[in-house]
Amino acid sequence: MLELLAVPQGRNYIAGRWVDPVGDRMLTSVNPATGEVLGVAPDSSAADVDRAVRAAAEAWPSWRATPAPRRAEILFRAAELLVRHKEELARLATREMGKILTETRGDVQEAIDMTYFIAGEGRRLHGYTTPSEMPRKAAYCVRQPLGVVGVITPWNFPVAIPSWKIVPALVCGNTVVFKPAPETPLSAAAFTALLVEAGLPPGVLNLVTGGDETGAALVDHPGIALISFTGSTDVGLQVAARCQARGVRVSLEMGGKNAAIVLDDADLELAADALTWSAFGTTGQRCTACSRIVVTPRAHREVVERLADRARRLRLGDGLDPATDMGPLVSASQRQRVETYVEIGRREGATVVLGGERPRVPGLERGFFYAPTILDGVTPGMRVAQEEIFGPVVGVMDAASLEEAIEIVNGVRYGLCASIFTRDVFAAMRAVEEIRTGIVYVNHGTTGAEVHLPFGGTRATGNGHREGGLQVLDVFTEWKSVYIDYSGRLQRAQIDRD
Ligand code: NAD
Repeated sequence: MLELLAVPQGRNYIAGRWVDPVGDRMLTSVNPATGEVLGVAPDSSAADVDRAVRAAAEAWPSWRATPAPRRAEILFRAAELLVRHKEELARLATREMGKILTETRGDVQEAIDMTYFIAGEGRRLHGYTTPSEMPRKAAYCVRQPLGVVGVITPWNFPVAIPSWKIVPALVCGNTVVFKPAPETPLSAAAFTALLVEAGLPPGVLNLVTGGDETGAALVDHPGIALISFTGSTDVGLQVAARCQARGVRVSLEMGGKNAAIVLDDADLELAADALTWSAFGTTGQRCTACSRIVVTPRAHREVVERLADRARRLRLGDGLDPATDMGPLVSASQRQRVETYVEIGRREGATVVLGGERPRVPGLERGFFYAPTILDGVTPGMRVAQEEIFGPVVGVMDAASLEEAIEIVNGVRYGLCASIFTRDVFAAMRAVEEIRTGIVYVNHGTTGAEVHLPFGGTRATGNGHREGGLQVLDVFTEWKSVYIDYSGRLQRAQIDRD
């Protein structure tokens, strides 16, 4: 049986083998709760990236010629291996990026769900047939793989996000070079090891760990047909510009500034439970985290009190400890970013109702902890209401009416998700219709997507693609239209009509 924790350290996975990098620069993986060094991974150079892309290009002809149902069988085995190693992988991810074990189990479960779901598409990958406008002429279209796909991912879902990209890319007949976040290289190596253990041929999946420069080398490599990127909007837009300049396809999942509306008639207990989870789950480091609560006047005071009451009771600690509700931030720089934003909020005139400081967690003084923080009196123009903070900070804002609340929700550059709490079906339906995000929830927080529905955002959150759902197949394939004329004579479309 595969021993995940025995996956070789300090190596990339290229052409079916764990190989030393060309240079000797290494990344260090650190437990953000304890400061413990977990291991090292290559900080790969452009030469390593080149090696990986060449291996993927070499493997492509035979992988694309492998019937899709056969490719899918390997992925079904991968799903079974993920089930078998779920706990081990979840524990590794908690140690590497800090979120609590219940959540990393969910992270791995999402990868399991995605792998079973998309492996099922290996027996479909449907195109369609249609009548031709000419007699004795067949017309149909089929999906085609693209070639070598570069996958670039963040650290907050170290298993699920890579699975959303790698598994569909593979079932569609592409080969992959995977560049995970520098904060989570060991989880990435373990996930890669599981996929290859399922029987992927050499070169079909390659792992090159490293930081931003490694990612840039992948984006700029001439052998890449598609970059599938998840991360911040600033980096995503740079990646897109570089791809577009060369005519390379790019799929982007980027930042968010998600909001929940709470109307006066809402079930406030439910809203407080759901928003505590959405704002402070994963220490606020989810792309779908709720960072704005827009509340109508009569509910305002109670929403803040109930939320503060719950958030105050969250126990901070090591995510491996079953008593912990909220882990640390992923890194010192991420905590610094959160501190800076809370300071900006104070200066802009927001009131810190709860938190706004580093807590002391006995025994974990070296961890990157930050207290759950509620800012009240936030107004739509403030930076803390407009910019992504990506930490356990939520701003509460007033709206006089449903119309104003919807306007506030839509009044940011991002468009990932939003939610509304109300018992009024008319209000709920208007919000669903008028909110301009890729995902909308009713009487539910802003987190909790399921793999078989399209996932992604509008405006500065994405570029029109969706992950999850059957829509993900459109990212990793392109269409080929086929005409077969068996009339035995020249037939000119649009011209020979009579
Ligand atoms: P990031 O943008 O700093 O990095 C993301 C990845 O891009 C990393 O692997 C990084 O090494 C790589 N990278 C950085 N610079 C690069 C460059 N110039 N060229 C190529 N690659 C480069 O983001 P992060 O801090 O890892 O993750 C947090 C961000 O991710 C947040 O903005 C969050 O909203 C977003 N996110 C979005 C979704 C979504 O589905 N919309 C999901 C999760 C996270």
